[in-house]
Order: sequence, then C-alpha cells, then structure tokens
Amino acid sequence: MTQRQPVQLPVQLPAHLKADCAACVGLCCVVPPFDAAQGFGFDKPAETPCQHLCADHRCGIHDALMPRGFEGCVAFDCLGAGQRLTASAAARFGDADWRARPQVARWLFDAYPRVRQVQEWLASLSLAAEVSGEAGLRELAQALEAESARWPDWSPAEQAAWQARVQAALAPLAENRGSRK
Ligand code: SF4
Repeated sequence: MTQRQPVQLPVQLPAHLKADCAACVGLCCVVPPFDAAQGFGFDKPAETPCQHLCADHRCGIHDALMPRGFEGCVAFDCLGAGQRLTASAAARFGDADWRARPQVARWLFDAYPRVRQVQEWLASLSLAAEVSGEAGLRELAQALEAESARWPDWSPAEQAAWQARVQAALAPLAENRGSRK
C-alpha cells in the first residue's frame, strides 16, 4: 500500500495525519495480514512483504491496483503512521531498513499497529476539534502528540489509559449527535 488515493473529507486533516508514501518504507504493505476476500488480491500472513512491493518500497502494480483486485490498497490510509515510524526508526537506529536489519524490522513491526491506532485517535480528535470548535479536544490532541516519541514504548496500560481519555473526550459529541436524530 505504498501509494494511495487521497481521501476526500469535508474538513482536512493536517499533513502529519495524512499518509506520505514517499517517506515510508512500505510498512502497510508488510505488517498487516491480507485477506483476498477483502480486496487485497491474495492472502498473506502478517509481517511478510506483499509480493508486489519493490525493493525501493514502491508498489509494482500501483497503476493497476483496481483491475488486479487490490481495491483494499486503494482504500487503506495509514493516517501518517508509516512516515512517522520510518522517521522514528531512522532516528533510533540510523535507518529504517527492515529488510537488512532484523532488529529494526522487529521494532517497526511491533510499533506499527500501535502507532496506526494512535494516529487514528489523533485524526478523530483533530476532526472533532475542527468541527466542534472545542478547545479541550485540541489540547488533548496536542498532549497526545507531545508523547509521540514514546508511543512505540508505551506499556499496554499506558496505551489503554490514553484510549480511555480519547474516548471520554469524544463521547459527548457522539451523544449530541444521537440526540439530534
Ligand atoms: S499491491 Fe502490495 S505493494 Fe502494492 S500497494 Fe498493495 S500491498 Fe502495497
């Protein structure tokens, strides 16, 4: 999933919450498992490279994803998790070469699902703050962002605590939306 179609939203996400495939080492084409029935062309286990991922981390069938049955790749958006982790690995290990360095691969593969999840929380907070004008949501997003260097090292309890904070902050908006039905 090294190249993707832009997602059109009424409120735009900031750049750090949009996938920048050119700055990523193809993590979404490696880390998640594929299910052919869900638009990924073939089945593959987690943590194995897609057979179409090139050595330069670009997609070898980018111009033919839909006709080749890879609509899942077109629809998927890492929300910036890929380039964030690629940059973090480069800062930590000197490069993000998961093919050549098992230690780097292990770190990236463990961190990717978590960081993808946190980017999703940030995107939700960011969009909710934009739409509602709630300063508290923006401040929570900034506090979460300020911890970004530690996301890969969070304990499960730390991650769960952050998830609870985000859910609690967003819950009133969901309730308001429900009451307007
Ligand atoms: S077909 Fe493979 S290499 Fe291409 S975008 Fe999808 S997962 Fe990535």
